[in-house]
Amino acid sequence: MPSRRNVLLGVAAAVAGIALVHGGAGASSQAAQVPAAAPVGPPPPPAWPALLPPPPAAARMLLPGGGVLSALPGSGDLLSITLDDGVDTSVVRAYCQLAKDTGIRLTMFVTGVYSSWTDNRELLSPLVDRGQIQLGNHTWVHPNLVKLTGGQIADELRHTDQFLRDTFGVDATPYYRPPYGAYNDLVQSVAADLGYTETALWNGNLGDDQILAPETIVDNAEKYYTAQSVVIGHLNHPPVTTTYHQLVDVIADRKLRTVTLDDVFLKPEAARLTSAYPG
Ligand SMILES: [Zn+2]
Repeated sequence: MPSRRNVLLGVAAAVAGIALVHGGAGASSQAAQVPAAAPVGPPPPPAWPALLPPPPAAARMLLPGGGVLSALPGSGDLLSITLDDGVDTSVVRAYCQLAKDTGIRLTMFVTGVYSSWTDNRELLSPLVDRGQIQLGNHTWVHPNLVKLTGGQIADELRHTDQFLRDTFGVDATPYYRPPYGAYNDLVQSVAADLGYTETALWNGNLGDDQILAPETIVDNAEKYYTAQSVVIGHLNHPPVTTTYHQLVDVIADRKLRTVTLDDVFLKPEAARLTSAYPG
């Protein structure tokens, strides 16, 4: 029995043969003037503007200390785009495709319970492996950590930590993002005990944890995509995916250089203590 591929090749050859015969028989000057048919379908989207590459690895600096990061230190042209949660698998997929298409560098804070992370593993893994997308820890079920006991906080962080090791082969330390930006001394000390010494906050917000009109998302990008900012967005609602061209235009027009946190900071020496909250 012929394979599907052979059948298709046979069909293609037959069609080519018909075309040759037809071309030979009808090679009059009149036939030659018939314009080629326009390609079917919508026109291709406008090309992406070129984005600047990340700074060289030699420029990486020590974390500033203090354990809380909400902006990139100093002056420069860097923009840290961070994306949280992963409620909608199609949004995670669209951002991965955007990264592939444009080279934009992103840090995703993973809430492990959402299936979008395993749904998109094949698309995401190569981007993670080459450092274009960094994964951070955003707990397992997205609780308000300040309402939990030390043991519960540890379980939340450890579950996603293990998930990221098992699924993507990455160590997400030292960056965790507390849901709602809510943390206290207990949260920080439990997190640090597990290697999560850096509470990763933000100083600009796309606001798309709610369902916003695309124009509002673009307005927020114009407001907050500025040099040395850390901007939070969400992998939860599709409208943002319709604004990609405008967002990339803002980045390109302002000559900002998108970076992951690992593009900016040296990874601290693994000074992982024995947790007071063994699993
Ligand atoms: Zn969140």
